[in-house]
Amino acid sequence: MARLRFSYGTMGSGKSTLALQIHHNLSSRNLNGLLCSQLDRADGKVSSALGVSADAVEVGPRLDLYELALAMAERHGSLDYVVCDEAQFYTAAQVGQLARIVDELGADVFAFGLLTSFQGELFEGTKRLLEMADESAEIQVEARCWCGGRATHNARLVDGDQVYDGELFLVDDPDDHQVTYELRCRRHWLAGDSGGAKRVTAHAAVVEG
Ligand SMILES: [Zn+2]
Repeated sequence: MARLRFSYGTMGSGKSTLALQIHHNLSSRNLNGLLCSQLDRADGKVSSALGVSADAVEVGPRLDLYELALAMAERHGSLDYVVCDEAQFYTAAQVGQLARIVDELGADVFAFGLLTSFQGELFEGTKRLLEMADESAEIQVEARCWCGGRATHNARLVDGDQVYDGELFLVDDPDDHQVTYELRCRRHWLAGDSGGAKRVTAHAAVVEG
């Protein structure tokens, strides 16, 4: 039986690395699959902080994942799996399309994503995946807060100060503020406490899904 699986974790938990690993393992067994991402750094690729990458379909909000999968199944005679990185950014409708891929096409779907935004709230895609998935599991690679505690939250910093409001998608900042992300435990995320040091982790945050 095909299943819809959702694996979630913070930034730095190796979601993209896992997505790439599953895609590699299945495609090297000659299974037909799709690798999907969204808002990834290198255009049309999934890349991990460890420096691995693979070609991927870029998923915009209007892409019908079911139609894409159906076309793929028709072209290759079958579709065995779909791997989705950055699935927190999918719309609720797209998560529904993933469920149809499982139920109607019999393909396994492996979705990876963040649980909560810098605002501390579930992403739309994540919420729907938690509601719809056959299995949801937290990735067991633990990221750490500066205090050594387990990092469960992503903090957005603007010029070094944590913010809790703002656009979910920050593309270009016209005022040229420096936007970075840090991993925090809940206590230090709530307190906006960066431990006295202003760490610059923008690169890590951008690279690591
Ligand atoms: Zn902490």
